[in-house]
Amino acid sequence: HHGIRQVLRQLGIQDHNPAFSTGLQWGGEGNTNTRTISSPTDGKRIATVALATADDYEQVVRKAEEAFKTWRLVPAPKRGEIVRQIGNKLREYKDDLGKLVSYEMGKILQEGLGEVQEMIDICDFAVGLSRQLHGLTMHSERPAHRMYEQYHPLGLVGIISAFNFPVAVWSWNAMLAAVCGDVSIWKPSEKTPLVAVAVQHIIKDVLAENELPEGIFNVIIGDAEIGAKMAADMRVPLVSATGSTRMGKKVGEVVGARLGKALLELGGNNAIILTEHADLDIAIRAVLFGAVGTAGQRCTTTRRLIIHDSIYDDVKQRLLAAYPKLPIGHPLQDGNLVGPLIDTDAVQSFTKALEAVQAEGGTLLTGGQVLSGAGYETGTYVQPALVEAKNEYHTVQEETFAPILYLIKYSGAVENAIDLQNGVRQGLSSSIFTLNMREAEAFLSATGSDCGIANVNIGTSGAEIGGAFGGEKETGGGRESGSDAWKIYMRRQTNTINYSTQLPLAQGIKFDI
Ligand code: NAD
Repeated sequence: HHGIRQVLRQLGIQDHNPAFSTGLQWGGEGNTNTRTISSPTDGKRIATVALATADDYEQVVRKAEEAFKTWRLVPAPKRGEIVRQIGNKLREYKDDLGKLVSYEMGKILQEGLGEVQEMIDICDFAVGLSRQLHGLTMHSERPAHRMYEQYHPLGLVGIISAFNFPVAVWSWNAMLAAVCGDVSIWKPSEKTPLVAVAVQHIIKDVLAENELPEGIFNVIIGDAEIGAKMAADMRVPLVSATGSTRMGKKVGEVVGARLGKALLELGGNNAIILTEHADLDIAIRAVLFGAVGTAGQRCTTTRRLIIHDSIYDDVKQRLLAAYPKLPIGHPLQDGNLVGPLIDTDAVQSFTKALEAVQAEGGTLLTGGQVLSGAGYETGTYVQPALVEAKNEYHTVQEETFAPILYLIKYSGAVENAIDLQNGVRQGLSSSIFTLNMREAEAFLSATGSDCGIANVNIGTSGAEIGGAFGGEKETGGGRESGSDAWKIYMRRQTNTINYSTQLPLAQGIKFDI
């Protein structure tokens, strides 16, 4: 079984795993509510996790509050040093972690390793950032006054993560939060808690080696209920939630009702535009990676292909040639490019969406089968589907978290393609393939793509950590990872200092008694 037992041992995963960790301690081992985690790759049971109770949650929050009092006093570059050590430990365990991501979630090993690399990269980024939490200084309008701004640690950051990036998205949040002086409470997806437990073992070692207190990095295993507790909790000033738009609307509403900060990273419905000036050789490769990579389970997966009518048939033929040849199978086996969907519910959504889109008038060109037979006994492997459809179809307007690519035709100017691209409720990632400078610039202009990510001659998925990641509209508006995304993890303060003997008022107001 691909040496998975040894991987689990290396990473400290036991047969029965505890429900929470406050950094140095584990807890909730004896909880009666448990969840069995099986691999979507072969259906085998991996291990069990205990689920946290309301009391466990209280304990974690109290430990986190306590730790914050210490952690916020540690100078930011010293906090960066801890993150540097975490990054180094992640390097040591990269292979094992990559395999566990792959086995628990189902993405191919290359992508599992890529996800761990993303954690390492964000650690490096955060280390540098720990010396660059800059505010500005301003010129005061009053004599002998100084004005500047500071960024202070915010407090407890709740991190709710999705199954499809079971560790990378947590690290984007947790490492930035850590150098910003915050403490974090991570509630991983209930579908992929084991890799979170594995990462927490690594974190725990680093905290212990540095004699740091409990509660700086916490993890709590549970389902939506624990996430909802965090959303409603006044003691958690920032809740960063990644997942479906349905979840984000709930979390956003609850956090909003108490005027907390919500960082939402929700669903996408990403399109690639292929104009008549596209370099089709690179475009087709980008489309394939974007549409079938991670078996269509990335928030940035390419779901719509908007193709100029002059090249439509050529593109369709090239995709029809490639799709039946996709190597689908166990993600830990070399050479496979498409693994399973996370569970049979996801397979059902896939099948239902294909039925629905055909009922609306779409044409299934290839794929769509649930695979069976040797190696496919789990019923979680599907043949990626290509469908000719119209943008306005209800099914096309929704994000189905599975490998379905809708081919949509446009004619005339690139503006028509941009209208189609923008004509959905989601706004995460988008790209255009063109060698025509006017088309490319139109796509990137104020009247171009309305997404948080807009690429030229690159697909929709596979972002680098250096940029701010996130999207508009129903994608939730949050930004994480690079650029100045760190600012949401801090509270901002404007300071004005008077070193004169007078008390001049701003705007020249006179108020003398
Ligand atoms: P999901 O919404 O089912 O679950 C995500 C997380 O939210 C889980 O940890 C879950 O327990 C928690 N949750 C669910 N309901 C909640 C509630 N009412 N209150 C608090 N927490 C709640 O999503 P999923 O199936 O795990 O992931 C797939 C979805 O995530 C897709 O829509 C995908 O596009 C999206 N996603 C977005 C990004 C991004 O950065 N924009 C990244 C990855 C995934």
